[in-house]
Amino acid sequence: MNSPQTDVDAAPARAGVEVRLEGLRRHYGHVVALDGLDLTIKPGELVVLLGPSGCGKTTTLRLLAGLEDADQGAITVAGREITHVPANHRDMGMVFQAYSLFPHMTVQENVAFGLKLRRVHKAERSRRALAMLDLVGLTEQAGRYAHQISGGQQQRVALARALAIQPQVLLLDEPLSALDAKVRAQLRDEIRRIQLEVGITTLFVTHDQEEALAIADRVGVMKEGRIEQLGPPTEIYSRPGTAFVAEFVGLTNRLAGTVSGSTVTVRGRDLPLVDKSTPPGPVTALVRPEAVTLASRDAEGSGPLVGTVIAVTFLGATSRVTVDLGDTTILAQLPTSDATALSAGSRVSLMIRPDPVLVSGAEPAVSQE
Ligand code: ATP
Repeated sequence: MNSPQTDVDAAPARAGVEVRLEGLRRHYGHVVALDGLDLTIKPGELVVLLGPSGCGKTTTLRLLAGLEDADQGAITVAGREITHVPANHRDMGMVFQAYSLFPHMTVQENVAFGLKLRRVHKAERSRRALAMLDLVGLTEQAGRYAHQISGGQQQRVALARALAIQPQVLLLDEPLSALDAKVRAQLRDEIRRIQLEVGITTLFVTHDQEEALAIADRVGVMKEGRIEQLGPPTEIYSRPGTAFVAEFVGLTNRLAGTVSGSTVTVRGRDLPLVDKSTPPGPVTALVRPEAVTLASRDAEGSGPLVGTVIAVTFLGATSRVTVDLGDTTILAQLPTSDATALSAGSRVSLMIRPDPVLVSGAEPAVSQE
């Protein structure tokens, strides 16, 4: 009750409603943007829709917001069907990619704008706007104009404005993509903190997998107008259900292999299959860089798992090492402390950890760059 960060008005009155999207279809001319999408967002949950350009993420969000109509399907929020309810009666807060602040209004006036439209009286507007600015850490900027604050601060104001009306649902459409990497990561964490604090059911759209994995309770990976897999970030990353998800989420080595029984043999190593019913024969095995470990080795060594380092890329706590195996290249991701001894030209031997492996059909393996 007496949290120093927010007063009680910062929390919406109806926090944590369930959102249900059922069999949503939408086409534009001959383009099928949504092809029977089903998604239930639990009360207070943050679901991220992740997927390649054109897979239907924004269309899903716009249908939920009421900015577009579905051709078929139903949208239910807090048990009430709103499929045909106009956008201005849907009670959603939205934050878009582009900073959308009104340039002629101060930060505080921007945040209070939705309340003014709802005829909330002046003193109450001001009180709630200031509570929201406190929530996003911008109290001191209340009197400034958009051009007097940074891009990251503008998006915080947009978030405060979206939450000020105490919406049932928060919708975020690529809210970080116009920001530079450092601000992105900071604001991403900030959005998650605020979302948890307010407890609002949230749909967040992005094509950035790192962002999705970092912020979501559950990630829905979309492909061609449907959700291909929905699950917590760790499950999406560690146990992708399909080759599409494995390749879209995280870097993946594509290595030629041969299935026999419940294993796939890759460069002389037997690795367990995720799908034990995969028919025998040649496949492309999808192996995560962090499943590959490296050991320095004498120059004269050779074999299917011996190669030459082409490049070492420092990523902070980990480093990515590209190794030429003669007929293909492979990426390994190691703790930086293990990679410091390596440089271009180093001879290394590889081990592939026997994690369960997904395979991508019986297609021929493609060499990597
Ligand atoms: P991106 O990451 O590029 O924003 P997205 O996953 O959000 O992509 P959508 O914007 O939902 O994808 O678009 C899905 C498909 O519908 C695409 O093929 C897109 O070209 C098409 N589409 C979306 N809106 C319209 C429109 N207003 N008119 C015609 N086609 C559209």
